[in-house]
Amino acid sequence: MRRLAIGIDIGGTNTKFGFADRQGNVFYNNRIQTTGHKDFEAYFKELTGELNKTIDEHEKDTEIVGIGVGAPNANLFTGTISNAANLPWKQTIPIADLLEKEFNAKCIITNDANAAAIGEMVYGGAVGMNDFIVITLGTGLGSGIVANGKIINGHDGYAAELGHVTVKYAGRQCGCGRKGCLETYVSATGIRRTVYKLLADSTEPSTLRGISFNELSTETISEAALEGDPVALESFDYTARILGQSLANTCAHTSPEAIFVFGGLAKAGDLIMEPTKIYMEENLYPFYKGNVKLIPSKLPDENAPILGASSLIWNYRNN
Ligand SMILES: [Zn+2]
Repeated sequence: MRRLAIGIDIGGTNTKFGFADRQGNVFYNNRIQTTGHKDFEAYFKELTGELNKTIDEHEKDTEIVGIGVGAPNANLFTGTISNAANLPWKQTIPIADLLEKEFNAKCIITNDANAAAIGEMVYGGAVGMNDFIVITLGTGLGSGIVANGKIINGHDGYAAELGHVTVKYAGRQCGCGRKGCLETYVSATGIRRTVYKLLADSTEPSTLRGISFNELSTETISEAALEGDPVALESFDYTARILGQSLANTCAHTSPEAIFVFGGLAKAGDLIMEPTKIYMEENLYPFYKGNVKLIPSKLPDENAPILGASSLIWNYRNN
């Protein structure tokens, strides 16, 4: 009998799901669109329909140990998703209860960045580490902090929002209502804003001129940088400087052994990782210098969101 956890990652565009064992082997995975349904009930019906199909096919040799969910604004303590800016439903959704009833198994939910951190601890590069931080660079900047071997949830389940620490007084407007938050500079959206600002402030020729804001992607910026485009190169340097300085500050809270970087912008590889390392190192408190590794996530790319979500089951239960 295989013992599997269901992992569900609810993103703004797609919901990815799959079945994973304790070792991180994913046996089946698929996705549905998060958007385009009449209401949450219609979405939930499609999702559970897909999962039930697979469960029915493998009923004889599979035991479902639990269901882990990673989603924006998901709260471990309440089991609900509420007011998530990037999801289509604005009401508070008791998703853990609904899934427990549907599958008659324990459901644990948390925000997507905390799920990524637990995934790193259970299956990835942080196996055996007690103190580390995961930074997820996507549309925004998410983070999960593990200290003394435990993920930090805070008193209300909303700890570790490093995307919303102020890095510039009266800086860029953030989606959260504040100004100058880290994620307005360091994220896929942040670097695009930086490119536009640099283009406006200089007259240098650049292949990025003439690309509309919506069409500009981190891949386009990376390609331009690799060809030596000065604006693209400067945008990576600027992004890395702000990230490196912020991470150096963050180290003062928990003295982590490593910081893992995960997600879309992290795929720019050395363009972002190398300068970030240099700026972080420059700004670290002397005791920490040379002592904090900055490394890309070790979770396998295509299944990382599913593994992050399913890892909640192995982490929070004694399986
Ligand atoms: Zn913010």
